[in-house]
Amino acid sequence: MEKFEIVVIGGGPAGITLAKMLGQSCKMAVIRPEDHSMIYCAMPYVIEGLVDMEKTYKSDTLVTDAGARLIRNTVTKVDFEEKTLIFIDGTRIAYEKLVIATGAVPFIPPIPGHELDGVGVFKMQDDLSWVKKIVDKGLKRAVVVGAGAIGIELAQAFSYRKVAVDLVDMGNSVLPNLVDEDMSGVLKTELEREWIKIHLNTKITELKGKDHVEEVIPDQGESIQFNTENDGALSGVVIFAAGMRPEVSLFKDSKLAIDRDGIVVNDKMETNIEDVYAVGDCVQYYSGITGKPLSGKLATNAVPMAKVLGNNLKGQERKYPGFYNGAATKVGKYFVGGTGLSEAAAKSAGINVVCGYSEVTTKFPIIPGAKKKRMKLVADKATHRIIGAQIVSEEPVVGRIDLLTFAIQKESTIEDLSMLSYASQPHQSFYPAANVVVLAAEDIRKSQGW
Ligand SMILES: Cc1cc2nc3c(=O)[nH]c(=O)nc-3n(C[C@H](O)[C@H](O)[C@H](O)COP(=O)(O)OP(=O)(O)OC[C@H]3O[C@@H](n4cnc5c(N)ncnc54)[C@H](O)[C@@H]3O)c2cc1C
Repeated sequence: MEKFEIVVIGGGPAGITLAKMLGQSCKMAVIRPEDHSMIYCAMPYVIEGLVDMEKTYKSDTLVTDAGARLIRNTVTKVDFEEKTLIFIDGTRIAYEKLVIATGAVPFIPPIPGHELDGVGVFKMQDDLSWVKKIVDKGLKRAVVVGAGAIGIELAQAFSYRKVAVDLVDMGNSVLPNLVDEDMSGVLKTELEREWIKIHLNTKITELKGKDHVEEVIPDQGESIQFNTENDGALSGVVIFAAGMRPEVSLFKDSKLAIDRDGIVVNDKMETNIEDVYAVGDCVQYYSGITGKPLSGKLATNAVPMAKVLGNNLKGQERKYPGFYNGAATKVGKYFVGGTGLSEAAAKSAGINVVCGYSEVTTKFPIIPGAKKKRMKLVADKATHRIIGAQIVSEEPVVGRIDLLTFAIQKESTIEDLSMLSYASQPHQSFYPAANVVVLAAEDIRKSQGW
């Protein structure tokens, strides 16, 4: 039986990062079954027609040129005592150190009819091929369940391709994990302007149909019906983008410690079993703000976790600081970003919060093309620490979100932010007289008398 010094189960961003860091220095294998590892974030833009499907395939050379072996197979069992893996075809390999990077899988609620044709998810290469094919064939209608970033990006892609879209969510606002309701009103309007029909506070309770899904039954309002096409083509699909679950099915009934949101690890990405580590979406980790478990199924969390582990396996002593969940998306003309805790999330974590707002333009107002930019800051009233920020703008927000994530990580206070030293230039910001972050911080200082 062949033995590797390091074996990684999973060829997503976390697995590839580890291959790049460790492939040259040891005998290493990365295992994944799918033909192509994907640039998942770009998948909605394939449906939209902006990006060719092949461009979302990551090259295998990312792994192989780094010196690691790519094993295209599915692991069906891990024997932690013998330190071996068994593949679906019965073959085995042995490891000295094992990294679990099995990711997460989209959740389909077990409602009646969930197994009908035309019901799916949007994660892997096969999902993308399926959705693209039916859209290219003239799909008429789609129901997207989940108004998070993936659901919204997919709904917009359908709409741009002239597919009638219903976007359904149990919550009372769109993008609830990114921005609070008082920031997302314009986003809902923008989605409606793009012909997306939004059903909030609505739960899908049943899917009906003979073989294909033909009718979607919500817990309130009218059912959504798909007309049957004469040529037998699917006229409607239901795509669930209603959250991810850690892919830990391989370890059911094993001694690996697993909690609600994934494999339990410490800040060095070590599991409860010696020489077994876990990184990425399959892991349960903690908010860097509250220290409590927090979902953070993002590539921007998976890759840094893998880097902490990769550096530690090279002999360093790095620690993963926790999830801050800085993230962004695009809704029509708006770029939207959020980081840390929203006001709603902070309140449900029992934090007494204060919020501040600011609105400026993206360029000097006298420069043609200046657009609105709106910000919300969320602070802990007791400590004055900034714990969350949200931006809706007509220009990209990721740079500003990263700055605010760093401020949160560094436990900056609202007073610190009000003293932020900033840059200004006619094409790139509002006048030197005001900065969007400082204004929002001053808004809190004023309301609180700080
Ligand atoms: C449509 C979409 C858009 C997204 N957009 C963004 C974005 O804009 N920004 C962002 O930060 N994140 C985004 N994400 C989330 C991001 O893609 C994930 O957080 C990231 O892929 C997690 O990486 P991972 O390596 O932990 O797991 P995955 O990428 O899920 O990889 C898991 C790997 O493990 C393999 N595996 C699982 N079980 C086995 C087994 N038994 N045997 C062998 N191999 C196995 C899988 O086949 C896969 O190769 C998006 C996700 C989707 C689906």
